[in-house]
Amino acid sequence: MISASVALVHPTAEVSPEALIGAGTRIWHQAQVREGARLGCDCIVGKGVYIDFGVQVGDKVKIQNGALLYHGLTVESGVFIGPGACMANDLYPRAITPEGRLKGNDDWAVGPTLICYGASIGAGAIVLPGVTIGRFALVAAGAAVTRSVPEHGLVAGVPARLIGYACECGRPMKLSPPGWHCPACGRELQPGEAHA
Ligand SMILES: [Zn+2]
Repeated sequence: MISASVALVHPTAEVSPEALIGAGTRIWHQAQVREGARLGCDCIVGKGVYIDFGVQVGDKVKIQNGALLYHGLTVESGVFIGPGACMANDLYPRAITPEGRLKGNDDWAVGPTLICYGASIGAGAIVLPGVTIGRFALVAAGAAVTRSVPEHGLVAGVPARLIGYACECGRPMKLSPPGWHCPACGRELQPGEAHA
């Protein structure tokens, strides 16, 4: 059901009547939101985004054009998902069983994936199933995340590696013992906070 005060669902978007959409959320051209998906308030769902059945999304989440959010994913509030990013859900992808039969939904296990409050997923990044991306973590564009990322963790590359820590403002932090310091906004991150 779509809340009466939804600001906008573009006429070309396809939102299941069994999806729950919060007030103020805007869903743009050709996006698809499937049954059992739940989006909070004041989200932006860009052109061509795919939100699979049962995906849970918090408030004030920005999902940029063409991002793919597959079943098994939970996205907390304040998360940014860049254009073309893919949240995959099958760690052992095969079209067929070893016997050659087409695989159905019961033939594989979904790896649950959690993206925590305030985190960002860069453009074109791939997040493999079964990982947790910590609060305010930042995944660089094009990265392939194969394991969990700590709070504020800044990861890049294929496979993604921890290369530093990111501030709430999105900038990389500088090591300033005993913690980390943001040269852009002055916030501090204590060593205890910079862990999963
Ligand atoms: Zn900052």
